[in-house]
Amino acid sequence: MIEAIKEIGKYELKNKGKNIDNSLDLLHILIDDPESNPKKPTYKKILVILIKKVGEKYEYSGVEIEEYDGEKINKYLYKQGSPKGTDITPTSRVTTIDSTFEKTKILPWFNNLQEINLDEGINLVNIGDCIRNNKEQILNDLNEKHSEIDKKEKSVITLKIDGKYVGEYNIFKRILVEESKKGLYSKYGKISKAENEFCYVCNERKKDVYGFVDTYKFYTVDKPGFVSGGFHQKDAWKVYPVCLNCALVLEVGKKYVNDNLNFNFYGFNYFLIPKFINKEGYESKKEIFKLIENQQDPKFAKKEVKRFTQDEKEILEVMSEQKNYLNMNFMFYEAPKGLGGSVFNILLYVEDILPSRLKKLFDEKREVDKMDIFKECMAPVFKDKKKIGEVSLEFNFGILRTFLPKISKNRTYDKYFLDIVNKIFTNKQVNYDFLMQFIMQKIRDEFVNGYSTDSTKISTLKGFMLLNYLNNINILKTNKKI
Ligand SMILES: [Zn+2]
Repeated sequence: MIEAIKEIGKYELKNKGKNIDNSLDLLHILIDDPESNPKKPTYKKILVILIKKVGEKYEYSGVEIEEYDGEKINKYLYKQGSPKGTDITPTSRVTTIDSTFEKTKILPWFNNLQEINLDEGINLVNIGDCIRNNKEQILNDLNEKHSEIDKKEKSVITLKIDGKYVGEYNIFKRILVEESKKGLYSKYGKISKAENEFCYVCNERKKDVYGFVDTYKFYTVDKPGFVSGGFHQKDAWKVYPVCLNCALVLEVGKKYVNDNLNFNFYGFNYFLIPKFINKEGYESKKEIFKLIENQQDPKFAKKEVKRFTQDEKEILEVMSEQKNYLNMNFMFYEAPKGLGGSVFNILLYVEDILPSRLKKLFDEKREVDKMDIFKECMAPVFKDKKKIGEVSLEFNFGILRTFLPKISKNRTYDKYFLDIVNKIFTNKQVNYDFLMQFIMQKIRDEFVNGYSTDSTKISTLKGFMLLNYLNNINILKTNKKI
């Protein structure tokens, strides 16, 4: 999986005309877009604190509002830091003006300054003094400008020194690069890196390798004693050493996966990660990735697509039509606080699924969907808990989820559900009696709780449909004749 993500990263860099060995392009990979979510514009206003150099000292000369400009993200040089600490540079998203400017981000950034090198004639210590000395005035001016902004729009605070943005000074860029590297080798108060060792990902001997590269936590050193035989976090580089170049390409690949290969799945999410089997060239990769991107865009999406999930962006049918020069890897996960959040649990990997397997799954779905008994069964369709219509029963993973649901926060059949999903993809046997218990339980519950006969009938047919489907793809293990 890690190679597949690296390949996607390489593809995306080439597609965007970027070169990882070029330091400007490297910077582009490291910075965050303060607006962050292009699909839902949010941080639209930039509050700029103006600082001017006079002799050796700096003077504060006011606050300006600018419109956010996507072309300027290199200049804003925003990089999110830890939630409780400052960001990596003095550019920060505003929560409240008081907090962001004075208490948590901008002023504290200068208070924590460790680097006092002069660079391009600017002196960070003196700039910090200037901001500190004019704290009250700056706060007033920021609040005044902020009150002019539409309440629905969010804003960002940054600086301009002598008319130039933070990202136009080398010193801030250098801090950004060094701090970003630090994240790869410094954690839990431990330093884990080595010189002249082999990188786990590219297999090359590299000047520096780092121990805390955790793309999707494939390998995690959160827990002391995680590796048997005694394990010290500072020795993490010995288990999973990664060079800077690979770490960054993985970061690009991860971003592409998050943005384009991320799908909903009945209370979970999954990443669908294509892996090219024979080192395909750039053009054939591009063809696949364009197809995937287009299928998720209502303007280009193929109409009348069959689906296995409720996610309208699902691309499985399109993938099932590909030749077997690539395979698919599914990573089911939960991230209750979002992808950037602190919780990310991998629930299941399904690896090396060929398009021909998916095609078989879709072909059998069509066969089952065609059966009159299911076609004639009209099941209600809900949106936001309201009934919006009726459609014929069709096989999808929702049918399976009907019988293996999440019942409450503490009671759930998630594990069984994912286990059977895995077996469907990988052609492994499902025990008939085991499954039957859950089907019967659901139907019995509905009956006992006085649900309408319609509802009980639909559940019964869903159970029958599930058994039929599993039987058709030859994974139902039973001595009974169905
Ligand atoms: Zn490497």
